[in-house]
Amino acid sequence: MIRPFTAFCKLNQITFSDRQWLEREAASLNRTDGICPVCHTHAGLSPFASYPRYLVEWKDGAPVCHQVTVRRFRCSSCGHTHALLPSALVPYSSYSLRFILLVLRKHFLGRACVQSICEHAEISVSTFYRWKTLFLRHKALWLGVLADMAASPATFLSDMDGCLLQAFFQKFHLSFLQRLRGTSPNPLRKAPKDTGGFT
Ligand SMILES: [Zn+2]
Repeated sequence: MIRPFTAFCKLNQITFSDRQWLEREAASLNRTDGICPVCHTHAGLSPFASYPRYLVEWKDGAPVCHQVTVRRFRCSSCGHTHALLPSALVPYSSYSLRFILLVLRKHFLGRACVQSICEHAEISVSTFYRWKTLFLRHKALWLGVLADMAASPATFLSDMDGCLLQAFFQKFHLSFLQRLRGTSPNPLRKAPKDTGGFT
């Protein structure tokens, strides 16, 4: 998996939609000067294939689902293929990163009960708690024990920016809010649920 990071401001300052965010980052990679994550060869990536996946984002206060295209590139040196996944997406999830963070923000700020938040977002309560658990786990992983205890989830979430997302990925080889692969109950499901098997 190759993850481009081009938006480094705070996530709540990004003025375009998640779909536009994705398309801008995907277009920024329309070249063959990337670095293979396996063998680290420069300029060895060539377009190989693409596949559809779903993207769920907020629009006018309601969830909307788009079908978007993820491109795969092949390394001419080692032969591995890699999906190019813009940072607007969470790997293996149909929900955009900001969709999930806005759901959690509402909860951390105490603006609604969990049931109400889930109904509005059209997600199950179990999905909500899975997202919350992942968020708190990754927050602690990033900050360390002492800093994690001192930083409220709402403050940490409000301060999140593209720099953190990129640094988190580089340090842990894991995207923020990404579940470990293999924990999805139905990896081939295409419906707009958080069980999508597409990268
Ligand atoms: Zn390679």
